[in-house]
Amino acid sequence: MKCPHCGGRKAVEIDIHSEGFSAEASPVKECGKCGLIWRVKVVDDHTEIDIIKPAKK
Ligand SMILES: [Zn+2]
Repeated sequence: MKCPHCGGRKAVEIDIHSEGFSAEASPVKECGKCGLIWRVKVVDDHTEIDIIKPAKK
Protein backbone atom coordinates (compact mmCIF):
# COMPACT_ATOMS: atom_id res chain seq x y z
CA MET A 1 0.00 0.00 0.00
CA LYS A 2 1.26 3.44 -0.91
CA CYS A 3 1.86 6.18 1.62
CA PRO A 4 -1.20 8.45 1.73
CA HIS A 5 1.04 11.48 2.24
CA CYS A 6 3.86 11.22 -0.28
CA GLY A 7 2.89 8.17 -2.30
CA GLY A 8 6.10 6.38 -1.30
CA ARG A 9 6.05 2.62 -1.65
CA LYS A 10 8.58 1.83 1.06
CA ALA A 11 6.10 1.52 3.89
CA VAL A 12 6.87 -0.97 6.60
CA GLU A 13 4.54 -2.53 9.10
CA ILE A 14 5.39 -1.64 12.65
CA ASP A 15 4.35 -3.30 15.85
CA ILE A 16 2.85 -1.03 18.46
CA HIS A 17 0.85 -3.55 20.41
CA SER A 18 2.00 -1.91 23.61
CA GLU A 19 -0.04 1.18 22.78
CA GLY A 20 -3.25 -0.74 22.56
CA PHE A 21 -3.64 -1.06 18.83
CA SER A 22 -4.71 -4.31 17.32
CA ALA A 23 -2.24 -4.98 14.55
CA GLU A 24 -4.29 -7.82 13.13
CA ALA A 25 -7.39 -5.74 12.56
CA SER A 26 -5.58 -2.60 11.39
CA PRO A 27 -1.88 -2.91 10.64
CA VAL A 28 0.17 0.17 11.44
CA LYS A 29 2.50 1.31 8.68
CA GLU A 30 5.42 3.68 8.67
CA CYS A 31 6.58 5.35 5.48
CA GLY A 32 10.31 4.94 4.90
CA LYS A 33 10.34 8.12 2.86
CA CYS A 34 8.47 10.79 4.83
CA GLY A 35 8.08 9.17 8.25
CA LEU A 36 4.30 9.26 8.28
CA ILE A 37 2.76 6.65 10.54
CA TRP A 38 -0.75 5.56 9.73
CA ARG A 39 -3.06 2.65 9.86
CA VAL A 40 -5.83 1.40 7.68
CA LYS A 41 -9.12 0.63 9.31
CA VAL A 42 -11.60 -1.56 7.52
CA VAL A 43 -15.09 -0.27 8.15
CA ASP A 44 -17.75 -2.49 6.63
CA ASP A 45 -16.88 -2.56 2.93
CA HIS A 46 -14.46 0.35 2.72
CA THR A 47 -11.18 1.41 4.29
CA GLU A 48 -10.35 4.50 6.28
CA ILE A 49 -6.92 5.96 6.84
CA ASP A 50 -6.00 6.96 10.35
CA ILE A 51 -2.96 9.24 10.68
CA ILE A 52 -1.10 8.41 13.87
CA LYS A 53 1.97 10.56 13.38
CA PRO A 54 2.39 13.29 10.76
CA ALA A 55 5.17 13.23 8.20
CA LYS A 56 8.54 14.68 9.18
CA LYS A 57 8.92 16.67 5.98
ZN1 LIG B 1 5.35 8.98 2.88
